[in-house]
Amino acid sequence: MKIGVNAGHGPNVGARANGYEEERLNKMMNLMFMALGGIRGHTMIDATGQRKDDYIEGAEICNANNVDVAVSSHFNIGVGPGVEVFYRAPKSGDTEEMLRRIDDTRAMAHAVSQAIATTYGLYDRGEKPTGKLGFLNLATTRAPAILIEWGFLDAPGNTDVPKIIANPTSGVLAVLQVLERHFNSPGVNPYPKPRSKQQKGSQGSEVSWLQRFLNSLKRYLRLSEDGSFGPVTQGVVLRYQSDNRLEPDGIAGPLTLAKMGVTGTICPYAEPSVSLKKGSQGEGVSWIQWQLNRRMKAGLVVDGGFGNLTDTAVRNFQRLNNGLAVDGIVGSMTRARLKEETSIRIV
Ligand SMILES: [Zn+2]
Repeated sequence: MKIGVNAGHGPNVGARANGYEEERLNKMMNLMFMALGGIRGHTMIDATGQRKDDYIEGAEICNANNVDVAVSSHFNIGVGPGVEVFYRAPKSGDTEEMLRRIDDTRAMAHAVSQAIATTYGLYDRGEKPTGKLGFLNLATTRAPAILIEWGFLDAPGNTDVPKIIANPTSGVLAVLQVLERHFNSPGVNPYPKPRSKQQKGSQGSEVSWLQRFLNSLKRYLRLSEDGSFGPVTQGVVLRYQSDNRLEPDGIAGPLTLAKMGVTGTICPYAEPSVSLKKGSQGEGVSWIQWQLNRRMKAGLVVDGGFGNLTDTAVRNFQRLNNGLAVDGIVGSMTRARLKEETSIRIV
């Protein structure tokens, strides 16, 4: 997902106590967010402003970049101990939809505060609605936005901040994990996104992507990420579909994959797992015909019947792709080339 992070205060210094300078600590947490978020596969936007009204500038940057969620990092003085997380308070005139969104952000703020408290052994002050004066960025950011007060610079016994700065990665990681759970984001998924329908019998790394995605939701039976779409994977896909009001057929087709965040055109046929040639029949042949039409505008009728026209188109494709034997047989090598993103130039 796209996450905007803001270190706050612009040219202002922020809070100071016990030799700590807030803006330095804020920036350290922001750097951790940028680095760890990037490693976990998110698009990170540094929304720290330079203007005096950094809060508003931060919201402008988040809005201009269309972030999915915004996180602002701060440290407090005055009333410690503990961690607290702010969210935009409801106000009169808010629509039903807005109230529902605020309640959702409140739940996220609650979970973030709890995760930070648990990570560092801090007192959990919990989620707080913004007061009349507070944190304009939370009111003007379109995406759900929270502001973390990681700790009090003058916490009693001066123990909170040292724990955080000794290990900032753990706290930032805990926050990112809450956001990922909250938005059902898969985080890092090292496998290639499916470009075709996946169903029972499908094989390969696109199946592993699906298995990793379903595992990342932490809601279903844990799947082995073995790239083999068997009955257990099918069962979890069925559960996912009924949880998401999709037609429960146990097949990860274009609609189900789109719900999982796979963008772009998805082939509505499943890739064959065996070699096919003239005379072959079925969905695997439709997959080949669909790919030939996509890759080189072959103009084939997608009917699942491997006849003379399909045979000619396959041989043409093989001739145009160095390294493929021109034999009319569609095996794993030809399939790998057929799946490639770009369309080929026919001269
Ligand atoms: Zn601050």
